[in-house]
Amino acid sequence: MANELEDQADLAVRLRVALSLCPADALTHRRSDRVSRREKIERHLLAEALVPDEFVDLLAEAVDRTLDAWQVQRENVANFREYLLERDGSRCGSCRVDFSQATDEVDSVRLRDPFKLAWVDPSRHLQATVDHREPVSKFGTNEVDNLWLLCRFCNEGKGDGSPILLKHELDYAADLPWAGSVNPAANLLAHSSRITYRVLARQNFECGRCGGRDHELTVRKERESGLAVLSNLTSVCVECL
Ligand SMILES: [Zn+2]
Ligand SMILES: [Zn+2]
Repeated sequence: MANELEDQADLAVRLRVALSLCPADALTHRRSDRVSRREKIERHLLAEALVPDEFVDLLAEAVDRTLDAWQVQRENVANFREYLLERDGSRCGSCRVDFSQATDEVDSVRLRDPFKLAWVDPSRHLQATVDHREPVSKFGTNEVDNLWLLCRFCNEGKGDGSPILLKHELDYAADLPWAGSVNPAANLLAHSSRITYRVLARQNFECGRCGGRDHELTVRKERESGLAVLSNLTSVCVECL
């Protein structure tokens, strides 16, 4: 583990250097592109005269290899699960659900929360997953400072950070509070995780009522008479419900 952390730190330094030397089209490079990534980097270094010509070849190769290593390592973040459990404790960084609890004893399961539907499939939704705080799509790195544990429900809700469509927000509002005795439709589950994550993130993953971060969080309507839309939802911990 210690070695792995050192490798990460080393890669982070190299990556910063590499990113300062490579053109945008190298970052968005696809294997199917006609020109290789290395060639794109080389052309860029020559065009910008960033280094003496005799070093361009060597440097382009190093930058290319660093980008490769970054790509490989970002796919291996699951290796950091144990380390993060030790660093952050056994809780989801977003909704604070306790991973070490038996799933049938988790608060959200006990309460059968009508807003946050993680309890519908607890053994799947409440698993600890390693997530990049700053998404890889926005060039978040594998540095441990950029990693945290999210339950699968929150991780899927976070997604790639793209905005929630108004249509989905309204679907969710129309169906909630959901009080069915059978499984809700898959799209309602997806809306529930996206909206829950968005509300919790907006409130810094703290309870909107007591400000606490020690108990599992869910969402509730701020004005009872209003709809369950983003603008009328607030985070609330299970102690404040
Ligand atoms: Zn969570
Ligand atoms: Zn609270």
